[in-house]
Amino acid sequence: MPNDLLCPVSATIADALRCIDRNARGIVCLHDDGDRVVAIMTDGDIRRTLLRGFGLDSPVREHANRDFFWMPHGLAHKAYIAKLNDKRQYILVLDEQRRLVSLVSFKDEAMLPVSSINLAGNELHYVLHCIRDNWISSQGRFVQEFEKNFAAYHAMPYALTTTNGTAALHLALAGLGIGPGDEVIVPASTFGATANAVIHAGGIPVFVDIEEDTWCMDPLLLEQAITPATKAIIPVHLYGNPANMEEIAKVAGKHGLFIVEDCAESLGASFPDGTLTGTKSDVSCFSFFSNKVITTGEGGMALARDADLHRKMQQLRDHGVSLARKYWHDYPGFNYRMTNIQAAIGLAQMERIGDFLDMRERIFARYKEHLKDLPGLQMQTIKPGYSAINWLFTVAVTPEFPHSRDALMEILKKRGIDSRPFFPALFHQPAYAPYRRKDEFPVALRMEKEGISLPTSNFLSMANVDKVCEIIVETGYRKKRDI
Ligand SMILES: *Cc1c(COP(=O)(O)O)cnc(C)c1O
Repeated sequence: MPNDLLCPVSATIADALRCIDRNARGIVCLHDDGDRVVAIMTDGDIRRTLLRGFGLDSPVREHANRDFFWMPHGLAHKAYIAKLNDKRQYILVLDEQRRLVSLVSFKDEAMLPVSSINLAGNELHYVLHCIRDNWISSQGRFVQEFEKNFAAYHAMPYALTTTNGTAALHLALAGLGIGPGDEVIVPASTFGATANAVIHAGGIPVFVDIEEDTWCMDPLLLEQAITPATKAIIPVHLYGNPANMEEIAKVAGKHGLFIVEDCAESLGASFPDGTLTGTKSDVSCFSFFSNKVITTGEGGMALARDADLHRKMQQLRDHGVSLARKYWHDYPGFNYRMTNIQAAIGLAQMERIGDFLDMRERIFARYKEHLKDLPGLQMQTIKPGYSAINWLFTVAVTPEFPHSRDALMEILKKRGIDSRPFFPALFHQPAYAPYRRKDEFPVALRMEKEGISLPTSNFLSMANVDKVCEIIVETGYRKKRDI
């Protein structure tokens, strides 16, 4: 019996409010001495009662709704759901004695999303500052504070906010002077923005396959992709797992190539020496889209160590205008400036980065605990000493598993759980047809078919991780014909 939904009909408005506050369902069921539910009150009913001038000590029985919709228990779940609509958000399920059995609501039926955000810190407070003070464009103190905070977190000298992660990548490449004819090596499996930024800069993306175990760029394949036109490498710390930067840096050093780190998915991940991703390259780029580790809605950041490079990127971000002379353009730049409102949200998010990462670690451990012994599932390997942050918990559904990745996604969807396929290999997508040089990307192609990302966000409950895993484990031990 869902006791936290119940309150005696003899109670006061204050008692009912306290009950709603505890159950966080926005409704209280009022029962008589025989535990029969005789009326309900929603938080909206209470608000209207108070606005009519009644006090908190007013008895609920005088204001409650006695003519409420309910259904008898014992029907198929679908029958209850079918009665929910825009106006009717809840259905009370009562037994023969009119005692409460359960409350069915859309909230329980909603798909578990792959990721969700939490803005419960100082986000609103800081945004209100922007609005009260009229600082809503890219001028304003939160932009500088967010940049300072982000740079300090990474122990880097320079940080530059941008409109989004792709803009940060474009700015990095433009800042490094990558232009027409220049080749830039990117992993065969990544979100398309990594390669798009190269193309926007006028460059040519050259794909390199990912490693069998880490699913990040394979350093052993770099040499064979390098030509006299190669100017830079963009390693991506895929799904929050740091790429093998030590080996990548060796190759880059040997050939005099720039490294631009794509850290869109790896905020907080670290290398064996304890430094964070984003600190071992010429420029590192972050994204604050809503599904990333922290969010500003849309937004990005570029970190650099070199003062001149930082200054050039800063100019390019701001139409290429000279820092010394108004309306004087040194470069045909862009407008990639983040607004003060976005930065206000970003700063508030950074205040809680420690908690976010702790939660992600616990979610990661829980997923692994449930799924580690299940035959046919391959987990992403984290190299010894490296620390990943579990952007999206991702596994490969190998042929040993009784069902395909697509079948598993379908099963999860039917049970109310959203998931995502692994990033499809870039080389055979229409956008990259002009850059297709070879067709051998066995790992990227395997992962395109087998990889699945499961719900992961900063406040995903352990109960939900358990629910997802139960379905996967159940599916993993069932033959095809049983489904
Ligand atoms: C999200 C993402 C980007 C792009 O970031 P936006 O802020 O959406 O422009 C780039 N690279 C990778 C690997 C990403 O996951």
